[in-house]
Parts: sequence; C-alpha cells; structure tokens
Amino acid sequence: MTDVRLYAGEALARYGFPDGHPLGADRQGAFLREAQQRGLLARVRVCSPRVATSEELGRFHTQGHIDKVMHAGRDELEFLDDGDTPAFPDIFETSANVVGAALNGLAGVMSRECSRSFQPIGGLHHAGRDHAAGFCVFSDLGVVIETLRRQYGIRRIAYVDIDVHHGDGIFYAYEGDADLIVADIHEDGRYLYPGTGGEEETGNGAAKGRKLNIPLKPGSGDPEFLEAWSRVERHLDRFEPEFVLFQCGADGLRNDPLAHLKYTPALHAHAAKSLRRVADRFSMGRLMAFGGGGYDRNNLAQAWTAVLRELIA
Ligand SMILES: [Zn+2]
Repeated sequence: MTDVRLYAGEALARYGFPDGHPLGADRQGAFLREAQQRGLLARVRVCSPRVATSEELGRFHTQGHIDKVMHAGRDELEFLDDGDTPAFPDIFETSANVVGAALNGLAGVMSRECSRSFQPIGGLHHAGRDHAAGFCVFSDLGVVIETLRRQYGIRRIAYVDIDVHHGDGIFYAYEGDADLIVADIHEDGRYLYPGTGGEEETGNGAAKGRKLNIPLKPGSGDPEFLEAWSRVERHLDRFEPEFVLFQCGADGLRNDPLAHLKYTPALHAHAAKSLRRVADRFSMGRLMAFGGGGYDRNNLAQAWTAVLRELIA
C-alpha cells in the first residue's frame, strides 16, 4: 500500500449522461476493472467523494450557474448548454460530488496525508465560471485552483492538460492570470471542439508568455506529442510551480470516437512520470491528476492505469 489516493466509487461513477451519450456512466468501471487486473487497486487508498457545498462551488462559479444546475430538474431543462451537456436527474448532487472529491484530495495532499491523488471521473475542463459546456457541469479544477489560493495561500500553480480537446474552461478563466502556468497539448481547434487553443494564445497582459498552447494536426501521434512535451517541460521548469494539476484525458489515443489523434498509452505514462519530477523539484511533490475525457473504454482504461502506475511508482 502506498499513500496515493484514488477517488472512485458509486457516487462518482454516476457522473455520466444517458441514452448512448459518449460520456456514459460506465467509464469509471472500465478503468477500475483494468486497475484491479493490474494489481493497482491494492496499492492505493480508495476514497469516496462528498458533495461540494454551494460556498465551495462559488469559489469558481457564479451563483447564477450554481442556481441553474440546482434547479435544472424543477425548470425541466433538457440541456445545460446548446446541446452537448444534457440535464439528468440528480445532476446537481452528482456534479457537486466530482468537485467534493477533488477538494478532499486537495486536503489530503496539503495535509501530507497523501502524496498524490488520482480522480478518473474529474478534470471537467470545459465548464466556465458561468456556464456548463462540453459534458462539463462544474469545474473541479477551477474550484481546486481557487481553494489553493484562498485557503492555502498557494498562487503559482501549473495546469497541464493533455486531453485531446483544448481546456478552454480553465484557459479563459485565467487568461490574464500570471500565476496560473498553463501547458495544453490538444488537437488543432480548426478540426475539433471547442475550436480554441491556438499557438498564439499565450496569455494576456502580465500573463503573456505563461500559457503554452500546442495544437497538433489530425493524425498526429507519439512523435509529435513527445516533441511537444519537451516544450511543456521547459515551460514548467521556467516558472517553477508550487503545485501541479494534471488533466490526463484519454481521448487523444488512436480510435477515440470523438477525435483524430493516434497516441499510445505510453504517452500517458511518460507525461505522468515527467510531472512527478516537476512536482518533486518545485512543488514538494504535490500533484493531483484527473481523468478528463476519453470515450473508447479500452483506451481510457489503458491510459489511466498507466498514469496511476506512475503515480504510485
Ligand atoms: Zn476531451
């Protein structure tokens, strides 16, 4: 047994949309079966989530957005956005669980009860301060960033995102924030949702040069990613983050039904190992990883177990 925490269980599994939606409620199960087979579950502390409070959600989100999700059932909303993110029964509690799990993980890392955490159902990087988007209702990542700053006094945070989609919900919330160091490798927005994350988007004002967006052409695979990753490493070394957040979406792997890249799971291991080094060097080892996207069940199982293995190595 290591001191790495895995946030998983029934309440988190329920974060999924019905009727054949790509983000179905079976994704966590696919990961857990693979983790069990590889003997990883016996080596981590498996922790349950809790429902984040409105006050906690409000550290990142507007009250208007929180109220909209809370009353989605009463108001009989079909979607929370323009058609990607359906409302479903218990959507408030289920989405607030994703955030509560992340906050429990953060408390564990900050108190040093655990060294690192992994939350497969999390990393909801399209949700903005005042809106849901791209299957993401509340931003666990945004609430963690705000909590790090307000509660723990940690300002300089690295946000590293290898999900095939640009992490627009975090990027635009912190575009002018010089202390949120972003590195985001994704499929070129000219070919894929959400259409943003061009190389020229490097941050605004005092934050200029502190955000690294690396779009890859459709069909790119391991060689292109590895070249991009060496730029990510240099970027992080330059800004010496006090805390590392890793969104390790598995939808960049070959044959994902929503995207067009060709990664192998070895890249997820490579990135996780590299971020451990960054965290050990600058951040007292503090590293939290979140599953993000990934819609081929076998791919997400392979990629996320590769990450977990590196976290507990
Ligand atoms: Zn994605």
